[in-house]
Amino acid sequence: MEKDINERINNMTLEEKVRFCSGASFWETESLKRLSLPSMRFSDGPNGLRKPAGDDSIGLSNSEAATCFPAPAAYASSWDRQLIAKLGQAIAEEALATDVQIVLGPGINIKRSPLGGRNFEYLSEDPYLAGELAVSYINSMQNKGVGTSLKHFAANNKEYRRMEVDTIIDERTLHEIYLAAFEKAVKKAQPWTVMTAYNKVNGDYASENKELLQDVLHKQWGFEGFVVSDWGAVDDRVRALEAGLSVEMPPSGGLSDEKIKLAIQNGQLDEAVLDARLKAYFTILFKADASNSKTAGDLKEKHHQLAEEIASDSIVLLRNEQQALPLQTTEKVAVIGDLADKVRYRGGGSSQVTPTKLDTPLDKLREKAGEHIQFAQGYAAEAEEPDEKLLREAEHTAKAADKVILFLGLPEEQESEGFDREHLHLPKNQLLLLERLKNQNTQLIVVLSNGSPVEMPWYQHADAILETYLGGQAIGSAITNILYGDTNPSGKLTETFPVRLEDTPAYLNFNQEKNRVVYQEGIYTGYRYYDTKDVTPLYPFGHGLSYTTFQYSDLELSANDIQDTDTLTVRFTLTNTGDKKGKEAAQVYISDQKSSVARPVKELKGFEKVALEPGEKKEIAIVLDSRAFAFYDPEQQSWRVETGAFDILVGSSSKSIQLKETVEVTETAAPTPKYGRNSTVSDVLEDPHNRDKMEKLLLSLRGKLGLISEEAQSVEEMLFPMLNDLPLRGLVNFSQGQYTDKQLEVFIDTLNS
Ligand code: BGC
Repeated sequence: MEKDINERINNMTLEEKVRFCSGASFWETESLKRLSLPSMRFSDGPNGLRKPAGDDSIGLSNSEAATCFPAPAAYASSWDRQLIAKLGQAIAEEALATDVQIVLGPGINIKRSPLGGRNFEYLSEDPYLAGELAVSYINSMQNKGVGTSLKHFAANNKEYRRMEVDTIIDERTLHEIYLAAFEKAVKKAQPWTVMTAYNKVNGDYASENKELLQDVLHKQWGFEGFVVSDWGAVDDRVRALEAGLSVEMPPSGGLSDEKIKLAIQNGQLDEAVLDARLKAYFTILFKADASNSKTAGDLKEKHHQLAEEIASDSIVLLRNEQQALPLQTTEKVAVIGDLADKVRYRGGGSSQVTPTKLDTPLDKLREKAGEHIQFAQGYAAEAEEPDEKLLREAEHTAKAADKVILFLGLPEEQESEGFDREHLHLPKNQLLLLERLKNQNTQLIVVLSNGSPVEMPWYQHADAILETYLGGQAIGSAITNILYGDTNPSGKLTETFPVRLEDTPAYLNFNQEKNRVVYQEGIYTGYRYYDTKDVTPLYPFGHGLSYTTFQYSDLELSANDIQDTDTLTVRFTLTNTGDKKGKEAAQVYISDQKSSVARPVKELKGFEKVALEPGEKKEIAIVLDSRAFAFYDPEQQSWRVETGAFDILVGSSSKSIQLKETVEVTETAAPTPKYGRNSTVSDVLEDPHNRDKMEKLLLSLRGKLGLISEEAQSVEEMLFPMLNDLPLRGLVNFSQGQYTDKQLEVFIDTLNS
């Protein structure tokens, strides 16, 4: 194939080559009959196809009908790799049926703040989880012969001024938090394309960022696909090409072609660079052309059912006091809230899929429990101000019921691609309704529809709370399944719900500045922050209840001591101790007991979603490799595991750790320290290879250095904090000329030799 590709490139004129550096239309790439180069079609997105009716616009509101699956924030809450694989396959089937070669997803940017306008489209605040789920999505889709576009690379964690903001991140944080999920997805699933983000990263636009596109993506991770721009993300087309971007979308009407041509003609750009970008692109083009096996039959009903299954397994039961849930079909239920009818099931912007049909909760609840359901609107979903008449009606309806199901959530105007949220409150009219209903003598069950966390100062007034996120076109059926216990809830949060916005890690530096955002909280995103700083969240990362109960037991590690080149198998038993079948997402975290760098108190490194019948038990085995123990070391420009003890924590959420064991890990290739005048005495004493030399020198300086008493017989006797932290140059400073710079230089050379 490589030969075919090279031959084609050699046979292309410069005009033809530059034409291929951008699309032929908003959604299609170029083609060239003479050389049998077909075009490819892109389509959004992560939760279903958004295929605009025409080819010449972004087409947000006129896409062809396709199954609208739950938003990524929802399906990620399933913590279920197999379920997400079913989703990937289903979207691929629809792509094949409508001649789409590349689906623009998954979006895996880290949820840095709950204010991020596009959080509903992303998977988690945790890079391990986001990476694992992305791998399932990509592999399942690409195994069907449809390509993916892993987006938005990189550090696009907010919407405000997203097309020009400069994201300033230190190198460790960049690799450990913001790149790690991309790294996993590239290494384990090789997405056909990677989409560059709109923003700058440390000074250069992501589309023009050589460090990201060349050094990291290609050289360090071995990416085999091609890089495409986000729609409109290219500023300097020639720089972008040099940096590694093959295809600019949408096309610029020939302007970019001219710029590339000119740069080659005047010697600014080597044509070999252009050829390399085309080669990456044609490699995928050939793959796409080879795969066109369509799935027979009508996909609509089948995929609607899958949308229901995914939504049902993704809903998170946040609270359930006195077994308020599940409901009985014989109970008189007041369904209150406009969102029960005008359900919010998808996010706004490029993932706004036109559904093939829509189940509203109200219809489905009526189907389930008939005349036992009474409905009151309560508030107008699109309004903020309360309506007294609607409030009174709601109170009246609630009075006559055994239980109240109150539908609350965020209106579309408050979260979408394109802007960030300004606060975490529910609308005023909804809060007032809740206030009026809370003191009635009926149990109150709140059902939330929102793309990302809301504050719940009212949570104690709710007997049960369901977080349904934006649950896709079958959300009404899924909510009904959960409320009546036909499905046992098993979703768990993939992000922390804070008590209040002020508690969030990026509170001080999110949208305060116009043109740049500094990630001052560093590696302390999400639960890494809450747990380390001991800030109590409203609901922690990994939290989600069930109608049954699970017990964790018998934790066993495959070894007590390992080297950093070994793997460690973590085994434990999970038992369903309740009387209903259910699923549990069991989580494994590591905690480094002592480290030379700041580390969070715990980090997720493994998970498994397990289905269990009542009374059934299963042994779960999770394998941890060296990366599980590592941090990114900017000095070495690589990952590093430091020798020491690590706790292995197993639990049902980041806050609910049930089992703990410890393993000693030994670093096999510790970097050799480099000493200089400002290294401290203790730096050298801690180094087993150099301790002797330091001791000898200190003993020889007794009496000469005001800091060491003449009587000291050993280093232990002479050490006190000031000497311990003394930079080596201090030996000269305090010796009053008896120990010279020249002698120190020689000493440092011996340390480094
Ligand atoms: C979004 C991308 C999307 C593209 C095409 C952009 O505005 O950021 O995520 O895939 O549009 O719709």
